[in-house]
Amino acid sequence: MVVYEDESEQWFRDVLENHEEEARQRAFSLVEEGHTDENGCIVTPTAYPRKVIFHGRQTYAYRFIHCVLEGEIAGRDQVVRHRCHNRLCINPAHLALGTQADNKRDDWENWAGGVDFDFL
Ligand SMILES: [Zn+2]
Repeated sequence: MVVYEDESEQWFRDVLENHEEEARQRAFSLVEEGHTDENGCIVTPTAYPRKVIFHGRQTYAYRFIHCVLEGEIAGRDQVVRHRCHNRLCINPAHLALGTQADNKRDDWENWAGGVDFDFL
């Protein structure tokens, strides 16, 4: 059986298997550059979600941080969700891997009822 991996999965696998220490240091230094707000979010000083370039691929810093620190491989169809609904947030404790559908549902819940502070 051939296991098909998309390019996102191949890249994360290579990072986690061959460059893990370097990746973790990069993730920690990104987190250190952020500042903590009143919700406990660690936000980047950027207008849009920060991106990071690592070993030939550009990805969102929050996606990079979550996958590297949790050791999770995210495929193209998987998104790293913000449980705090702040897309500038890179606090590893506020991030979770999910599907595009999960992400939409998060938005709907957020619009309907505000931030769920139980998650923070
Ligand atoms: Zn947050």
